[in-house]
Amino acid sequence: MSLSELDRKTDPSGTDFRPQATIYVVCVFILMLTPLAFHHWIQGNRYVALGLVGVMGILAFNVHQHCNQKKLDACNMYLFSPFICAVLAGGIIVQGQEAAMWAFPVLMAFYCTLSVRQAVVANLMLILSISGASIYALPMEIYLRIIAALITSTVFAGIMVRAMDQQHRLLRNQMVTDHLTGVFNRVLLESSLESAQATFRTSKKPMTLLSMDVDYFKTINDSFGHLKGDCVLQELGALLNEKTRKADFVFRLGGEEFLILLHGSTVGNGRQVAESLRKSIAEMDILPDEPITVSVGVAELAINESTQQWLSRADKNLYRAKELGRNRVVN
Ligand code: GH3
Ligand code: MG
Ligand code: MG
Repeated sequence: MSLSELDRKTDPSGTDFRPQATIYVVCVFILMLTPLAFHHWIQGNRYVALGLVGVMGILAFNVHQHCNQKKLDACNMYLFSPFICAVLAGGIIVQGQEAAMWAFPVLMAFYCTLSVRQAVVANLMLILSISGASIYALPMEIYLRIIAALITSTVFAGIMVRAMDQQHRLLRNQMVTDHLTGVFNRVLLESSLESAQATFRTSKKPMTLLSMDVDYFKTINDSFGHLKGDCVLQELGALLNEKTRKADFVFRLGGEEFLILLHGSTVGNGRQVAESLRKSIAEMDILPDEPITVSVGVAELAINESTQQWLSRADKNLYRAKELGRNRVVN
């Protein structure tokens, strides 16, 4: 599974630092800007004061949306960032060098609240707008120093945040992946089932579970050794990842048991997928003259059913498949 695919699936776990960082960044800005806005109002710089009030309004709106778990990425990127850059440029024209100092915390704030790519674009916009205002309002040597310092800061901050992001992705993906088979472990199981249930309830999209268990796996271990058994599990994980769609989730529940969540599949589709997987697994050429077989229980999510009941129906069907002689699909 590619990293971006993993990201898309694991994002619901909500471990990105940005929503939390946004709230802190906004609180600090509001605390610092309120006295400044008053000061400018009293000094008669009404436009600067109003610009600062506008910026604070945007920041407060950000906190409100984050508290209600609503995403603001596009708005922040295309609306708020240009507005903040324009206020800062206006401040430099009215006030000169003092206002330019604010470009540095704004630059850091973009990295804390936007994705790395968006922050780079927003910071380019910031540097360009400050450049335009500074060349008009400041002496050349100060202008050059400010721009050089801004470019250096944005590059350093970008390197730092990118490294942090990569570490975060790596750890998050390691946390949710089963190391032996490469499919998901149980960490995302509950949230994925609940999210499938919510989608089913709102959009009536059918959801189906395949509960799969390798037949006589203990005998495989006993006859070919534990390492070969691991090899079988590895190949099985790779096959399941390869043969399922991007929207589906494959979990290893433990030992030689797997669970596959099929998005948008009815029990009929689920049965077809299960049969096709069962055949592909039987055709795998891992053990000499020994086909690997699996038993599969299929269950489509029913109205008003809890995720536990759904899971246990899939399990019951799996046990029924075992009772009926294994190497089969039961729904
Ligand atoms: P059934 O057809 O009824 O499912 O029989 P089975 O032998 O597959 O079932 P059982 O639950 O008795 O055996 C599962 C075996 O899986 C026992 C355990 O040693 C083995 N196992 C569990 N985890 C691993 C693992 O990570 N690697 C290997 N090689 N074996 C494992
Ligand atoms: Mg088994
Ligand atoms: Mg088992």
